[in-house]
Amino acid sequence: MKTCLWCLNTENKVTFLKKAHTIPKSLGGQNFNKNVCDECNEYFGNKQDKNYSIEEALKEAFNITRKRMLLSSKPKKQVGKFKSRFFDITEKKGKYKFEFKTSFRFNSEFQKSLCRSFKRGLYKLYFEELNRQKGIGFETEFDLIRKFARYDENDLPIFYFQRSVGIIMILDKEAETPTLFFERMKYLYSDEYFEEIEFLGHVFGFPKKEFNLENFENYHTKSTEIKKGFFVGITKIEKFTNIDITFNIMNK
Ligand SMILES: [Zn+2]
Repeated sequence: MKTCLWCLNTENKVTFLKKAHTIPKSLGGQNFNKNVCDECNEYFGNKQDKNYSIEEALKEAFNITRKRMLLSSKPKKQVGKFKSRFFDITEKKGKYKFEFKTSFRFNSEFQKSLCRSFKRGLYKLYFEELNRQKGIGFETEFDLIRKFARYDENDLPIFYFQRSVGIIMILDKEAETPTLFFERMKYLYSDEYFEEIEFLGHVFGFPKKEFNLENFENYHTKSTEIKKGFFVGITKIEKFTNIDITFNIMNK
């Protein structure tokens, strides 16, 4: 019998009629996860008590990256303008700058909440793809992901790695139809407690089960070691500007 990856309810309690995109359709995602019930699927796409959904928080950030990637190989006319509900993107001599639109610029509560939704969305994308690709996720050790992404409880750290070189191995096809890769590049490090993924050229690291300080320090040391030469730093994501959404690294 089918069980929902998020609420753990089975087919006799919930329905599985709708197609659940693991990566939002609005981002070009084409994969589905069959183990997401309609209620949970809707949860991530609905605005809830905010004026944006979790999927929208993801889309807002990553669509800017997608455009930026396409711009490196296609003429501006073909790619079209940057469109965003929350950000203004300006270009000066090939360098891109993004900032919150005036109506959000001084609203730090809004920015914080949008960033939290983005983080929860990243976990959603990861977890549904993990389940789709590897068939795991129902085990209790993953409850901390369920709690944070689906039920808005606790807070989990997500780390962003800054590249030292502007060469990003991405094909146009990938910018159009983004895919989540596990263990794709040799600089991605994962262990029992932490996982690293690359999505649209961005590298993120985060816990996948309960961890202690020693687990974290061990992860941090080993992850930093194998990233030498490719990355210059690691930042705990607290706000959107921690992420190089417009890939300014490509200008270096
Ligand atoms: Zn469910």
